[in-house]
Amino acid sequence: MENLNKFIYSKNEAINEAKRCLNCKNKPCIDGCPAKNNIPEFIKKIAEEKFEQAKKIISKTNSLPGICGKVCPHEIQCQNKCTRKFKGKALEIGKLESFVTYFNCELNKKNHFIKKTKNYKKKVAIIGSGPSGLSCAKELALKGIHVTIFDSMPLLGGMLTYGIPAYRLPREIIHYEIEILRSLGVKFITKTKNKKNINFNEMKKNKKFDAFFICTGAWAPKKIEISGENLPNVFSGTKFLRQFNSGMFKHENFNKKNLSVIGGGNVAIDSARCAKQLGSNVTVFYRQNEEKMPAWQDEIKFAKAEGINFKFQMIPKNIIKNKNKTLKVTFFKKTNKKEEKNKKIVDETETQIIYSETQIETNFLIYAIGQTVDPNTAEIFENLLLDKNGCILIEKETGKTSIDGIFAGGDVVTGPETVVLAMISGKNVSDVILQYLE
Ligand SMILES: Cc1cc2nc3c(=O)[nH]c(=O)nc-3n(C[C@H](O)[C@H](O)[C@H](O)COP(=O)(O)OP(=O)(O)OC[C@H]3O[C@@H](n4cnc5c(N)ncnc54)[C@H](O)[C@@H]3O)c2cc1C
Repeated sequence: MENLNKFIYSKNEAINEAKRCLNCKNKPCIDGCPAKNNIPEFIKKIAEEKFEQAKKIISKTNSLPGICGKVCPHEIQCQNKCTRKFKGKALEIGKLESFVTYFNCELNKKNHFIKKTKNYKKKVAIIGSGPSGLSCAKELALKGIHVTIFDSMPLLGGMLTYGIPAYRLPREIIHYEIEILRSLGVKFITKTKNKKNINFNEMKKNKKFDAFFICTGAWAPKKIEISGENLPNVFSGTKFLRQFNSGMFKHENFNKKNLSVIGGGNVAIDSARCAKQLGSNVTVFYRQNEEKMPAWQDEIKFAKAEGINFKFQMIPKNIIKNKNKTLKVTFFKKTNKKEEKNKKIVDETETQIIYSETQIETNFLIYAIGQTVDPNTAEIFENLLLDKNGCILIEKETGKTSIDGIFAGGDVVTGPETVVLAMISGKNVSDVILQYLE
């Protein structure tokens, strides 16, 4: 039986860390938490060794606290506001969150799982098993609603499974959360793409489901729109990570090969670090300077420590396949006008920047410059109204879409965001669905 203790603080570490909490009067950490978890209160319970009580407190506002504890950007959220930060080191709130969720939890040990309170006849279909779908399912199932989650992929968890690498979010943790849902009676139907196998109209007419929650994420990669981006060995970041996380890549195909990543966000850094694990020589090319990189600081630090190279002010121009099957990538390199005058191509006098061309040779190229919602979303979901960004249009407070009985949340509504925001939307919409069913 898999014990989750190895992924979290030991009991003593957690208690010692919890004792550092100053229990500030104005509770700035809650301010920094998108879920508004009662952080000082649950930490106080850890310090008092009342772990079950601590778990109850945090579960009131967060359906997936252990996962958020692992992957939330705490440094820019709750921990950024921690008073201890200004007196040395912020409290490790994320680690305490995961500790209290998974302390002494064992996969498949049923008595750890929560029990539902009532049993209604109502049925809800959730399309998408990412954090938004999992949190909505958990809240509804706890209240006795029959929930079925449909997902197009073979594995559950959405970007938790296919995006975030296992070194940041151990798969045992995702399995554990899914086992909790199974123990609450949630059914899962995988490899089922809406439109192909699910027919909304039919299901509504036949009273198969009373309400639907759509949370299909934002998986479509933004294109770099330069020639050569469809060549073999050129991947989008999400496709590369999906294949990496599915165990589809062989070490020998990447080992000691040059792999270049275009982008400066978290997906670019995750791709770079995974490629490093495959043994590649990895370089990240970003179009601005380092300070402007949107990736989290810690992730950039880890990437550098692992030997990943960074090149800044590099804008991709085109990709050509060489005769030896490697890729030749041409970049515009931005340089300060004063530093380099000879290779001038474009002179933007106002910004005092010149662009010179530079070429690199690489075996693999990954572009990770952002994602959007599936462009076929309206067609897939019965002509639901979309906003100007192609996201599903909802009533902000309720998650109601333009069609009665169909709700939406998570990245498919906001565009790419974070796990905690997807979790919150699933949790909030579950309340509205309950009212709707009643
Ligand atoms: C590489 C990467 C790393 C990230 N790291 C972090 C991090 O460290 N911390 C953080 O907070 N956030 C991170 N994020 C963002 C976070 O993962 C997402 O914001 C979050 O997963 C969105 O949740 P969701 O439930 O809306 O959708 P998703 O997690 O995207 O799940 C959507 C699900 O819907 C399914 N689906 C799609 N279309 C259909 C269809 N037509 N029919 C049936 N099923 C369908 C998909 O298969 C998928 O399982 C990361 C994202 C990526 C790409």
